[in-house]
Amino acid sequence: MSLECPLCRSADVADFEQDRRRRYFRCQDCYLVFADPDCLLPPEEEKAVYDQHENFVEDEATALS
Ligand SMILES: [Zn+2]
Repeated sequence: MSLECPLCRSADVADFEQDRRRRYFRCQDCYLVFADPDCLLPPEEEKAVYDQHENFVEDEATALS
């Protein structure tokens, strides 16, 4: 496995958990649990979701006033 711990850079990581969206690993050295980096959303997508949320809040405020 080419994976390494993002905290201590150890390559000694083990499968920890898997949910519907992503997979998690645990470092055997520092016990950090981290998500599979391949499953993370690209930054652009996260921003798009955030922008949608902001617009929704704004629309709601306008409707209430
Ligand atoms: Zn570690």
